[in-house]
Amino acid sequence: MNRVRMKQKPARRKAALPRALPLPPEWRLRRRGGVAVLEALPLAQIPWLVHGFSTRVGGTSLQDGNRMLNLGYVEWDERSRVAENRRRFVRALGASEMEFVALRQFHSSLVRIFRCGPAQHLKGDAHLTRARGLLLTVQTADCVPILLVDTRKRIIAAIHAGWRGTAARVAQKIVGDLRMYFGTRPEDVIAAIGPAIGGCCYEVGPNVAHEFGSQFAQAGEWFEGPFAALSTGDEPTPFLWLQFDPPGHDRPKRVLLDLPAANRWQLEAAGVLPDRIFSCGVCTSCRMDWLFSYRREGLRTGRLMSAIGMKKVVASD
Ligand SMILES: [Zn+2]
Repeated sequence: MNRVRMKQKPARRKAALPRALPLPPEWRLRRRGGVAVLEALPLAQIPWLVHGFSTRVGGTSLQDGNRMLNLGYVEWDERSRVAENRRRFVRALGASEMEFVALRQFHSSLVRIFRCGPAQHLKGDAHLTRARGLLLTVQTADCVPILLVDTRKRIIAAIHAGWRGTAARVAQKIVGDLRMYFGTRPEDVIAAIGPAIGGCCYEVGPNVAHEFGSQFAQAGEWFEGPFAALSTGDEPTPFLWLQFDPPGHDRPKRVLLDLPAANRWQLEAAGVLPDRIFSCGVCTSCRMDWLFSYRREGLRTGRLMSAIGMKKVVASD
């Protein structure tokens, strides 16, 4: 055994990776061509599907001497580098032959339904298709990326849900669209919620609390801090002020919002079974070594990409 091992050529050295991500058992990190991609196993096991959530590992974009896989055409990056990064990501997914579809995202609940590749870049924050050979993508840096598949009817969807999209129920709406236009049974849907800013880091002010409070009866479950006071527009009571703050210190009127939890709730409310919703549970802001966080890095951050597509030809078909 030892002799065999000694004879082997040393493997080509891969660049050192950051500290491992704590992934749930249904998730894995796969490295291909130097690019590290997160996958949800229940989607990875479907033979006619490709999917993945990018990380910042393995790209050509340069910032302060560090290389990274920025997949968005942001101000600071060169277009040629982003294009090369996209090629690498798509190749790592095994989707080089597919037609790449991206939306001009604007934090809405606008859902686009594609029967073939769109001729132009359309505005929207979610898209779905029954067509094989289209790679549906969304870009995020803290917002929640969600990939859906109806395994019976073979329909796929990709969603970008920031706080505005979440408040506008984009995840719930797209399951409704699947039902209405394609007769999808929610119990046939598998959902993967990718890396997003978590309830540990996502501080929001009264406007967000108010928006959620007026939209969702259960909104309080997704917030930590004085949500009730903020969402109703009331000031925290003097008692609370005394309890939490030293005299003379203004209490910051902020709460923490768990956006992935709000989206999981929406999927369940739309009928998707709880044990078919797989959340990766990694916070973009906590793990900037692997991911991009707009909140933490501001304009200097990059974009993650989440993608899903159906193969044109499947061996088992
Ligand atoms: Zn965090």
